[in-house]
Amino acid sequence: MSDAEQVSDVPSAALAGLAAHTPWLANARQRVATALRAGRLPHGLLVYGSPGVGQTPLAWWIAQLLFCQGQGLGPCGQCDDCVLFSAGTHPDLHYVGREEKATVIRVEQVRELGVSLTGKSFRGGYRVGIIDPVDLMNTNSYNAFLKTLEEPGERLALILVAQRTERIPATIRSRCQRVHVPGPPGDEALSWLRSTVDAKTDWPAYLEDCGGAPFAAMEAAGAGEPVGPEMELHLFDSRTTPDPMSLAQVWSKDRPAARLRWLELRLQRAISELAEMSDEVNNNPRNRLKNSAARRNIRHTFVLLDEVRRARQLEAGPANPLLLWENLLVGFLPATRQATRRDDR
Ligand SMILES: [Zn+2]
Repeated sequence: MSDAEQVSDVPSAALAGLAAHTPWLANARQRVATALRAGRLPHGLLVYGSPGVGQTPLAWWIAQLLFCQGQGLGPCGQCDDCVLFSAGTHPDLHYVGREEKATVIRVEQVRELGVSLTGKSFRGGYRVGIIDPVDLMNTNSYNAFLKTLEEPGERLALILVAQRTERIPATIRSRCQRVHVPGPPGDEALSWLRSTVDAKTDWPAYLEDCGGAPFAAMEAAGAGEPVGPEMELHLFDSRTTPDPMSLAQVWSKDRPAARLRWLELRLQRAISELAEMSDEVNNNPRNRLKNSAARRNIRHTFVLLDEVRRARQLEAGPANPLLLWENLLVGFLPATRQATRRDDR
């Protein structure tokens, strides 16, 4: 495998193996496999879903299926190509991913992929290119990639992995078949994690950290304690009196990206709870008061949410993490307490 500069620690072949037994990926697996066996699989696939629900594992599973010499609806795991794939040394697999601390997939990476994919297959079968996440490509990268997508040559498959498809130019989208990866229901995610990884981990806490996305929860559990309970305590519990500067010191170094993601999800949840309250139809004057407070708090919470989203974008780049967290928390702490309260107690 060339170009491999993956950020995730889980080996790609292991991801493909996991995808083979993931119940909420079953529909997508079957659609792709059936199309492939019927000779109807287009050369461009856009595999997308919320972060960490399984689009990356599914992409690797599809790559293995394309290489596999068996004719089944899943990779056989036994043939020479499956063995090469599992060892991470399949010569016809070419991967472009996010480089550490990079905010875009550079045009040079895409050009190199294009070059790797021209020419004959080493093993006589498919040549496969994976770009993950394709959302991080910029205009130049997309333009460079379009040529490969438009003139694919024989037995070439391009698998694009995305979280959101809106930002991908229509010229790219229209040349790919979409494969949507849905998120699992909460109980399915939980029982899958318990049976696939272990039964001891506090999976509900990690799932909450990650918006219910099981593969993201797996990665989070490998990185340390869940961030949610600690952040809930310091940011939203009125019984604590946290110091923003010392929290910034710690949080800027300890999984800052996971913390910002949790914060974004937490504020989204606060907004929907407040919205539910403000919509309550009730003639009780006391409730009317509550409702207007809820509406005011929704506006505040939207402002906070914008700040967190801005911080998430900055955090992914070369920003100074300590400064970023200090700025966020200094204004944020008094305001969160105020705004995300469910009523004017
Ligand atoms: Zn095989």
